[in-house]
Amino acid sequence: MKVLLATQNRGKVKELQDLLSGEEIEVLSLEDLDHWEEVEETGSTFAENAAMKARIAAQRTGLVSLADDSGLEVDALQGAPGVYSARYAGEPKDDDKNNDRLLQELEGVPEEQRTGRFRCALVIAAPTGEEYLTEGTVEGRILNERRGKEGFGYDPLFYLPDFGRTMAQLNLSQKNKISHRAEAFRQAVPILKEFAQRNEKA
Ligand code: IMP
Repeated sequence: MKVLLATQNRGKVKELQDLLSGEEIEVLSLEDLDHWEEVEETGSTFAENAAMKARIAAQRTGLVSLADDSGLEVDALQGAPGVYSARYAGEPKDDDKNNDRLLQELEGVPEEQRTGRFRCALVIAAPTGEEYLTEGTVEGRILNERRGKEGFGYDPLFYLPDFGRTMAQLNLSQKNKISHRAEAFRQAVPILKEFAQRNEKA
């Protein structure tokens, strides 16, 4: 069975394909399509944004489609940057400026109140309208300065107490074991297997 992961990010495709190794499920991405019109992310939650993308992808392609949306929620900022994570410091999207803005917003906030999490919502939508939501989170704390060079986005400021490191101090395979995305993807695996089984019988 072929499924579509509605992303241009090869890293995400590989992550899902690795989790599905040994299964008769091939993961296609938007890069495998002749044409893709961008879906605007106008939802107020990660789940809404993921659902919009997954639904449209399933309708347009006729394939069981997955879409994820993720970002950082900081408790002292009432959940900001949240769904605005990618463009927290405005257009065009700039990770470094986003981190600067986060540091600014948290100036003077003491360490114990700088808690937050990365959250990922993943929606699996079938052309029939059937839909599933999985979610993953990873808890941490926002530092006062950047540490580490790996990863992307807010990784250099996101400290993982259990590891004594920031997300940007983990290599990709370590990050892929513990990340919010990895958790959401892992939960999607049995759902995709079920679709594949039904597909075989049909
Ligand atoms: P997307 O939904 O995966 O495109 O993520 C949206 C934005 O959330 C990114 O541009 C980053 O700013 C932030 N983000 C999501 N996941 C991560 C992560 O694993 N590390 C750091 N930042 C992330």
